[in-house]
Amino acid sequence: MVAPEDGTRERAVAKLQALVRIPTVSHPDPAAVDTARFEELLDELARQFPLVHERLELTRIHTHGLLFRWPGTADTRPLVLMAHLDVVPVEGEWTHPPFSGAIVDGAIWGRGTLDDKGSLAAICEAVETLLERGHVPAQDVWLSFGCDEEVFGQAAPMAVEELRRRGVRPWMVIDEGGAVASEAFPGVGAPVGVVGVAEKGVTSFALRVEGPGGHASTPARNGPTARLARAITRLERSPMPARLPDPTVELFRRLAAHAPAALRPVMANAAKVRPLLTRAILAAGPEPAAMARTTFAVTTLSASPAINVLAATATAGVNARVAIGDSVAGVLDHVRRAVRDEQVHIDLLEAGEPTPVSPTDDAAFALIERTITDLFPDAVPAPYVVMAATDARHFTAICERVYRFAPFRMTKAQRQSIHTVDEHLGVEAFLDGIDWYRLLIERLPA
Ligand SMILES: [Zn+2]
Repeated sequence: MVAPEDGTRERAVAKLQALVRIPTVSHPDPAAVDTARFEELLDELARQFPLVHERLELTRIHTHGLLFRWPGTADTRPLVLMAHLDVVPVEGEWTHPPFSGAIVDGAIWGRGTLDDKGSLAAICEAVETLLERGHVPAQDVWLSFGCDEEVFGQAAPMAVEELRRRGVRPWMVIDEGGAVASEAFPGVGAPVGVVGVAEKGVTSFALRVEGPGGHASTPARNGPTARLARAITRLERSPMPARLPDPTVELFRRLAAHAPAALRPVMANAAKVRPLLTRAILAAGPEPAAMARTTFAVTTLSASPAINVLAATATAGVNARVAIGDSVAGVLDHVRRAVRDEQVHIDLLEAGEPTPVSPTDDAAFALIERTITDLFPDAVPAPYVVMAATDARHFTAICERVYRFAPFRMTKAQRQSIHTVDEHLGVEAFLDGIDWYRLLIERLPA
């Protein structure tokens, strides 16, 4: 599957560089978005991928979202490949300018190379080259590119609505999330092709206490700030019950053979020793612990506007990540019980349930797995639960098999560069990613 040495490789890399140079930064306030940049990106895509634009049916979604349909021989098991056009803003000191797309040390540098223009360019290049060869996919292939993923925007839900309206029930959806991750687990030398099969839910609420306010010279006991502080400490002391979800157990089981000898038996029997393993994960630090339970982070605090005035209202914003198996209602119940103070009101601001878990024992997952193994022979494919939120979650409304996987080799440093400084994607990794999407499309079942 090595691309021929006829300039195709250089051409593909130059396309990603050009896309990175257009700073399509999204913003929660639509008025603050530089829409000219998004128009520019769409024009650039049309120039770079003429066959995609000529042969596929295009529906514009929301402001700048794109939904392409590539008609296949059949439409009984449609595939949806996803990416997003927008990037997060740039801050901090970068080694190479963030919108340069510079190639240094065998990598393409810049905001969006990993999140998510690498996937965007790789999907388009895979389809473009298949069109050049006259390939007709065995099934309809849809390309869904959102324009506001980073601000939890409307493009993805609107694409889902459009598919629903047209009666399309995707057989499989693939979006960003996982990767071919090296240094993913302590003691595991092999890279792990982590495929996200579910996402925790993002739920926000405020704890609010009201009081009469007044002058700070005559404070009453147990005023709003004291009650709020007590509520926060009580919540902190009463975490939700922990339990490793099935995909995480399966992840451990698959990694067992590659783990240090002492850990192998426990990991191989992860399902049987789930409580033991759960305790070990909880003790291993905040990152692993987040895999095992719903988490609460108290983020914003507000009370009196002046130092000599008693607070009439004290509030704490809490961001919860709801684990697979828990629910928003269950979380709110838990908070009420943990706080045990009727004067502490709980205002739900945003309710996000965890997604359903996509299967790992059927033909769709097997196709992803086999394509990972063929292109990344050293990697162990495995399911996992995504801690962040992706646009893919909206597609669970119309599809049972939603997977989050970007087919790129990424080091730990690269994964940590997402949303911060020095984001970069290896040139070879990018080219392998194109091959991955191409092979996947070629292998679609009749
Ligand atoms: Zn992203």
